Amino acid sequence: MHGFSYKNGSLFCEDVDLSTLAAEHGTPLYVYSAGTILDHYTRLDAALGEIDHEVAYAVKANSNLSVLRRLAQHGAGFDIVSGGELFRVIKAGGDPAHCTFAGVGKTRDEIIYALEQGIYSFNVESAEELAYLNEVAGELGRIAPAAVRVNPNVDAKTHKYISTGKSENKFGVDFGAIAGLYERASKEFKNVKLRGLQMHIGSQLTSIAPFIEAVEKVIPLVTALKEKHGIEFWSIGGGIGIIYKEALESGDPAWWENQPEETRPLTIERYGKELVPRLRNLGLKILLEPGRYIVGNAGVLITKCLYEKKGAAKTFKIVDAGMNDLIRPALYEGHHEIVPLTAPATTEQVTVDVVGPICESGDFFCQDRPLPDFQPGDHIALMSAGAYGFAMASNYNSRPLPAEILVEGATATVIRKRQTLDDLIAGEI
Ligand SMILES: *Cc1c(COP(=O)(O)O)cnc(C)c1O
Repeated sequence: MHGFSYKNGSLFCEDVDLSTLAAEHGTPLYVYSAGTILDHYTRLDAALGEIDHEVAYAVKANSNLSVLRRLAQHGAGFDIVSGGELFRVIKAGGDPAHCTFAGVGKTRDEIIYALEQGIYSFNVESAEELAYLNEVAGELGRIAPAAVRVNPNVDAKTHKYISTGKSENKFGVDFGAIAGLYERASKEFKNVKLRGLQMHIGSQLTSIAPFIEAVEKVIPLVTALKEKHGIEFWSIGGGIGIIYKEALESGDPAWWENQPEETRPLTIERYGKELVPRLRNLGLKILLEPGRYIVGNAGVLITKCLYEKKGAAKTFKIVDAGMNDLIRPALYEGHHEIVPLTAPATTEQVTVDVVGPICESGDFFCQDRPLPDFQPGDHIALMSAGAYGFAMASNYNSRPLPAEILVEGATATVIRKRQTLDDLIAGEI
């Protein structure tokens, strides 16, 4: 569910008319619903309510300070993948003691920064990294809290670029090598305290089965690690998928009710109901690292149609947002619903490609998709753009980064100014 719907023929975010925002702030423009973000966070927190747990929001999905600040104020922890993300969390008022640090390539500077800030755990992705963490912590005279990421070799059944829990992926340590690594660490790595185990099998998982498979596979391992090495937490990762197709419709609770049982998308309540009983009696603190689920459906990218180009084989609607603003379609065939800000007067549709201005054939938001026949000057919203949208935006083609707006009820706040041409060259000589 989310805060975007038509009211009297205009697309709103909560109580704010998106056409008004587009007129006032220009396009391309990211708009987020704070109510949706906090609703998702609160519902996930509640779904795990029965067990000792912490929701560590995966900062990389959307790292705007104002988003992080709202989540910190509501008690979220944070899963970070760089020193830069730790810096953001601290600036936003988050507590490093509730931060876990993931990623296969942590640098010396990042390790030192995170040690000095007192993070909760380094989630280590190889034996080599654990040895290096031990070395750096030793130099600083500190004990580094750590967990190893287990690769459970489970198929997440998601796009190959966002699948992370198979043996052929670069992530984590092979399931069969974990017990030996904890054994070795307890003897050799005196400056590391292994306090947990971590896993994350992939992103945009839309069924519960891979989560159950991974949890059931790892339970005996995590139980043995608790007995032998006294670990206190198990992070079961993020990866909970969201609705991309029918994104607008899925804002309505009735839409969820009407989905047939067999094909009903994964809800957070189902996630809790299936996993909590399996996790309840382990005596471990359970960490979650959701990113997309918290912010994905809470944001849209608004763009203006510039031209309609009728080619020999296709009709192109050329818009003022490009793959530099939202790269998901080009990077992993991501689907974004496209809806006009003004509700179409007829149900008639035309089959078009919606493309950006960038000099790349991969610069499209959809291909051969039937859409309402919006015209140059009209605004459209690319739905479900709150996660891995702005966070992945770049200045490619020397295009300034778009502005970001956070809506709370009837209030809209610019939480990141649109870049200027001077911003583009700042730092260059
Ligand atoms: C990216 C990532 C997440 C978040 O994934 P989502 O699919 O956005 O929930 C969680 N944990 C780790 C280790 C990640 O790399």
